[in-house]
Amino acid sequence: MTLILKGAEVAEALSQRIAVKIETLAASGVTPTLATLRVGERGDDVAYERSASKSAVRLGVKVENVVLSLEASQEELHKAIEVLNADPDIHGVLLFNPLPPHLDSQAASDLLVVEKDIDGICNLSHAGVYNDKDRGFAPCTASACMEILDHYGIELAGKHAVVIGRSLVVGKPLAMMLLRRNTTVTVCHSHTRKLKDIVRAADIVIACAGQANMVDASYLTEGQTVIDVGINVAEDGSLAGDVAFEAALDKVAAITPVPGGVGAVTTMVLLGNVVDSALKATAVL
Ligand code: NDP
Repeated sequence: MTLILKGAEVAEALSQRIAVKIETLAASGVTPTLATLRVGERGDDVAYERSASKSAVRLGVKVENVVLSLEASQEELHKAIEVLNADPDIHGVLLFNPLPPHLDSQAASDLLVVEKDIDGICNLSHAGVYNDKDRGFAPCTASACMEILDHYGIELAGKHAVVIGRSLVVGKPLAMMLLRRNTTVTVCHSHTRKLKDIVRAADIVIACAGQANMVDASYLTEGQTVIDVGINVAEDGSLAGDVAFEAALDKVAAITPVPGGVGAVTTMVLLGNVVDSALKATAVL
């Protein structure tokens, strides 16, 4: 029978570990605090800001929502980041991306101090993922995938993982994180030939291509663990992953559902990073 890797179960286990750390901080009079920084009123950003703020407050993480107008200049954005960088009561900053086209996203991201870059978007954070030095934090979605694999005790060392997607947000950092755990990793992308054969040869399949139901049963074999990162919104508003879930159910050993898989863990990872940042800042880690 296929094991369903439930995001809620992983998030709950994570939240219990985070709660213990929050108690440690409280004993030192510190409330971990997240600042969200949004430019404009993009629907996705507003929705995520609302749901992350709700989860944060439930957990005991304070949230400050900073909002700039859609017309904000690069200078105004940089100013806002510098204010948050300098504020000792802010432990993590979530800068919503993509930014409006007139703004330079990488320049803004790189201005964030690495210690507060809890979503792993600045170059120093990337470097930490690639050189195994843990400077800052890894991108939350990639970390969420690792949390799921670890929670369910999926063996990584010596296994072959195929990652479909190579973005800086998911595919590339995840490949590095798996490599660090002695997994043999193949990274695939839109130019990969014989993708089906490569995926069929994997022990662990991580689908992060953003293509609804692209990985159908013909890509999968028995015994595989499948992590589906894709969130694809259909015209009727329904969500689909990158993997044809029902068809995969008959075949693979374990799989994350969409919704209810990786997405459910990502926010908890983000909040855990805020708390770890607060612990480091107050040197009680
Ligand atoms: P990007 O569009 O930045 O990257 C997609 C990657 O998939 C690219 O590397 C692209 O290749 C590759 N790809 C696209 N089509 C194919 C194909 N047919 N065959 C093989 N490779 C392909 O997306 P993101 O990494 O930002 O996001 C990926 C998915 O994950 C999306 O559905 C997104 O919504 C979801 N997501 C989910 C999160 C969560 O918390 N669960 C958080 C973040 C994202 P190439 O480089 O050649 O173009």
